Amino acid sequence: MDPAPKLTLNNGVLMDQAGYGTYKVPLQDTAPLASAALSLGYRHIDTAALYGNEEGVGQAVRNFTHAGHVVREDLFVTSKVWNTDHGYDAALRAFDTSMQKLGFEYLDLYLIHWPCPERGLYAETYKALETLYSEGRIRAIGVSNFNREHLEVLLDAAYVVPAVNQVELHPWLPQRDLRSFHEANGIATVAWSPLGRGALLQEPAVQDIAGDTGRTPAQVVLRWHVQAGHTVIPKASTEERMAENLDIFSFELSPEHVAALDRLESGRRTGSNPSEVN
Ligand code: NDP
Repeated sequence: MDPAPKLTLNNGVLMDQAGYGTYKVPLQDTAPLASAALSLGYRHIDTAALYGNEEGVGQAVRNFTHAGHVVREDLFVTSKVWNTDHGYDAALRAFDTSMQKLGFEYLDLYLIHWPCPERGLYAETYKALETLYSEGRIRAIGVSNFNREHLEVLLDAAYVVPAVNQVELHPWLPQRDLRSFHEANGIATVAWSPLGRGALLQEPAVQDIAGDTGRTPAQVVLRWHVQAGHTVIPKASTEERMAENLDIFSFELSPEHVAALDRLESGRRTGSNPSEVN
């Protein structure tokens, strides 16, 4: 399958609009599943220190590049600094640990996983990311789970505007205000749990549109995202689902279908509210 189209981040770096998410992929399954994703055409993989599977992602990337299928520069890998490693020095150490596990010379995107507002250290943590960025060890830096108020504080303190904010986003929780803020500030939106952890696929409106378009419920929801300009990183455990989730660039939802999906907004989250994670 063709790789996903690439979006240009605010520093000129290209990121595939669909990636493979690896949260809850056990370490022993990660290299085979990430390898399958790469063979299917994925060029973007999302991991994090928390997921405990960076070694598997690194192994899949090394195997795929060593086999000569692509060069490392064709791939885009994201990792994230965990909440217990906030602070300048701790974040630098956490980055080194992640890089050892990944076995890379450089990382494409490094994010602060959660702002943890009560710790009060996210601006300082971000300074460590800026240092690593200025040293060329990371191609782009950004954040995850930052609400607008956290971004406002960060933008006041930062030299480098985050390239990405990776947040929970799907038709139940479309994050309209945050997305406008991203657009106004040149921050790309990456949607985590783009399928609402799979539960959204049971929505009658999603199933009806799948019937109308001859696509699967997952493809309908992922297409809603990419038409709105989001990057998606669905997780799947079978090659069939992975292939399905990447095959979302050859059809279009009508304005009526998009409106029907927009009407699913309910504020329902599958994860935590970032203001409450510390
Ligand atoms: P998703 O919305 O991607 O949903 C994954 C679930 O949907 C799994 O149960 C999967 O089942 C199922 N699924 C996937 N594809 C299909 C399909 N085509 N048809 C039917 N069911 C399908 O949820 P995640 O929470 O995993 O989010 C995706 C990624 O986002 C994560 O893996 C992670 O990389 C990132 N993330 C980031 C967070 C952050 O704080 N920054 C928080 C949470 C996630 P199965 O696995 O059985 O195939």
